[in-house]
Amino acid sequence: MPDQHHLYDPLPAAELLALDRQHVWHPYGPMPGRQEPLVVSSAAGVRLRLAQPSEGQDELVDGMSSWWSAIHGYNHPVLNEAARDQLGRMSHVMFGGLTHEPAVRLAAKLVEISPSGLEHVFLADSGSVAVEVAVKMCLQYWRSLGRTGKTRLLTWRGGYHGDTWQPMAVCDPEGGMHELWSGMLPRQLFADEPPAGFDAPLDPAYVAHLRSLVSAHADELAAVIVEPVVQGAGGMRFHSPGYLRVLRELCDEYGVLLILDEIATGFGRTGALFAADHAGITPDVMCVGKALTGGYLTLSATLCTARVADGISRGEVPVLAHGPTFMGNPLAASVALASLDLLLSQDWAREVERIGAGLLEGLAPAAGLPGVKDVRVLGAIGVVQLDHDVDMAAATRAAVREGVWLRPFRDLIYTMPPYVTGDGDVARICRAVCAAAREG
Ligand code: PMP
Repeated sequence: MPDQHHLYDPLPAAELLALDRQHVWHPYGPMPGRQEPLVVSSAAGVRLRLAQPSEGQDELVDGMSSWWSAIHGYNHPVLNEAARDQLGRMSHVMFGGLTHEPAVRLAAKLVEISPSGLEHVFLADSGSVAVEVAVKMCLQYWRSLGRTGKTRLLTWRGGYHGDTWQPMAVCDPEGGMHELWSGMLPRQLFADEPPAGFDAPLDPAYVAHLRSLVSAHADELAAVIVEPVVQGAGGMRFHSPGYLRVLRELCDEYGVLLILDEIATGFGRTGALFAADHAGITPDVMCVGKALTGGYLTLSATLCTARVADGISRGEVPVLAHGPTFMGNPLAASVALASLDLLLSQDWAREVERIGAGLLEGLAPAAGLPGVKDVRVLGAIGVVQLDHDVDMAAATRAAVREGVWLRPFRDLIYTMPPYVTGDGDVARICRAVCAAAREG
């Protein structure tokens, strides 16, 4: 895949890396960075092309879908065309007082495909902001109804909801990335982490634990917020959808709203279009992001029921005071529509199942490796958990040597491949995960 149409002369990789080190902050990193990043010059299908070879490889099969978003792979002709077509009309226009077809059609589409009962859509620009909006909706709902004491959130441990303030307050408070702020964040309520296992029977003691927390704090709880079925960046743990039904029932019984954060799980990743579908429930508020635009552009959405919107509009301040500059961005909305059409026009569930079967087979040998604590697969998600923290540099190098891009964290080496990953590449990703587990 040649690099075409450069508007500027490409910098030699060494120079680019020197400037990167001098000026550029990378995610969750120190300044200057400790590990040299790989320079990607382009990407197509499931392959990232490197500007200079690393471990003898000049391209890598992407096992990460760019943090779980690029479900259709890179440089997809349909998504490229949608972006080009929209660019020819307008890439952006403000959303205050104006509207446009891409945003309207996207909102209608999200309402159509999400759990029934979600009717209204707030478009925002990242997952964390979608969670901020979700929390604001719930706090404002109770305020509007005069229930001003209902200001706290309940979640379970092991979760992750983003890096801005409200999301940080419901991330796992221990051992996570946001521990530093624990004294300053709003103090939310934490249940124990949900018992592991998608297929595990419900644990009555855990159900009772949830019930006792919700019932004891109903007067101060605005909402329960959880990641459904898969806890992602908090530990790549799977739990039974039955606990979502339990939460739905408890929230209904005790007058608490339920927020599902589907930012990582939405759009097929767990084998259902939304993880809530495994449980057959509708949350009061739901967040989506990541794969919404097929990994092309940043866009998220917070959906809510008519009850939540009506409640807010009955308040003394009847508006939702939130309105990002790039709200409803037409370019992102057009690509999101094309991505959803692409997803829904194919048998995506079969592709996810195919990848899951490949991961199950290919990761099985990891279970016998020294230092491996658990191997688990759900949908198109494969996880190898070690009994120690991963040596990131060694594990990454081992995967790159196999021609695969992985980004392990804590004690976890995992993959969420694009849905278009062929069987041979899935097997290759598995070999890389095993190599990373051996060397990391
Ligand atoms: N919620 C979940 C479940 C996530 O996995 C993430 C990102 N990893 C976020 C929220 C935050 O999304 P963003 O990084 O787009 O702000």
